[in-house]
Amino acid sequence: MKAVRYVGPGRAPEIVDLPKPDPGAGQVLVKIGGAGVCHSDLHILDHGPAELRPFTLGHENAGWIAALGQGVTGWNEGDPVAIYGPWGCGTCHSCQGSAENYCEHHASLPTYGGGLGSDGGMADYMIVPSPRLLVPLGTLDPVMAAPLSDAALTPYHAIKSALPLLTPDTTAVIVGVGGLGHMAVQILRALSPARLIACDVDDSKLAHARNLGADHVVNTRDGRMAASHIRDLTGGRAVKVAFDFVATQPTIDLCMGIVGRGSRISIVGMGGGTIAYTVNKPHGCEIDLPYWGSRTELMEVIALAQAGRIKADVQSFPLEHATEVYQRLRDGRIHGRAVLVP
Ligand code: NAD
Ligand code: ZN
Ligand code: ZN
Repeated sequence: MKAVRYVGPGRAPEIVDLPKPDPGAGQVLVKIGGAGVCHSDLHILDHGPAELRPFTLGHENAGWIAALGQGVTGWNEGDPVAIYGPWGCGTCHSCQGSAENYCEHHASLPTYGGGLGSDGGMADYMIVPSPRLLVPLGTLDPVMAAPLSDAALTPYHAIKSALPLLTPDTTAVIVGVGGLGHMAVQILRALSPARLIACDVDDSKLAHARNLGADHVVNTRDGRMAASHIRDLTGGRAVKVAFDFVATQPTIDLCMGIVGRGSRISIVGMGGGTIAYTVNKPHGCEIDLPYWGSRTELMEVIALAQAGRIKADVQSFPLEHATEVYQRLRDGRIHGRAVLVP
């Protein structure tokens, strides 16, 4: 089978032929329907730790069960499934509560998950180490559903914990309307009555946010002017929750400049910016550093999609086009989420 491999930091991914894997005891073999192309892969391809051995990329996956390893029950070949991405130890307090994204043993685990150290879904088939990491898709198409497992789950987790702040008289801001951000707009629309301002540096991404239900859009290429415009849009009350899906220094500075007292900045992006601390200012502002989401939250995200309340805007490409698709993502030429289809 064909597979898209990480081969080392600073090197382009390679497309190679690998034997079709066999599921061992307790494992499940999934035939991949779609593997989402996440911006995190670019961070890994550029700066992945040197000690990381080559592995198949793709940490946002869905497909159909192809074979059950010895002892696996409760599933059938052909069942459509989403694959939960952040693989924890499965036994600690966090994992037992389904929050494997916050596994207490993460530092001693050999892998962060499939496509993040272990072989992922940019291939015809993928081994899932335990059926607990599968969520049924029902009637959803695996190609369209692949982004639910990261591009939707990650903002869902960030937004859900901020909901008590997002009352009808407040303003939420989303910075970066790409793969995660375009799902965040829809999730906020589905779950919260807050006024929603979407920000990006690309006007076509802003038009997309408008179509998905953002109340206002602001181009943030000039950060100082954008901050002042956003403050005006809040009627002087400032932003209650800013979700940063970029998190480079300019976007973090923007978020710091628009939130008010008793607010929250949720830093989801991995752009490498830092927050400067200046004597509790603004007072009562909390900083959230969310990572991915829990298994039960993936079930909730899938329920939202099944109800037709969120839908990934998918651009699908053949698996063999992976290198070109990564370049398109780097150049900002992906609309919504790119999904590779084997
Ligand atoms: P993407 O490339 O699909 O989207 C990024 C968007 O940000 C684009 O629309 C781009 O135009 C916009 N943008 C770029 N620079 C900007 C700026 N200075 N101001 C405003 N907008 C700007 O990326 P994605 O796949 O949605 O990932 C977004 C980030 O989230 C990445 O850093 C990724 O690594 C991170 N991520 C984090 C988690 C987590 O668990 N915390 C999970 C997945 C992805
Ligand atoms: Zn990702
Ligand atoms: Zn654990």
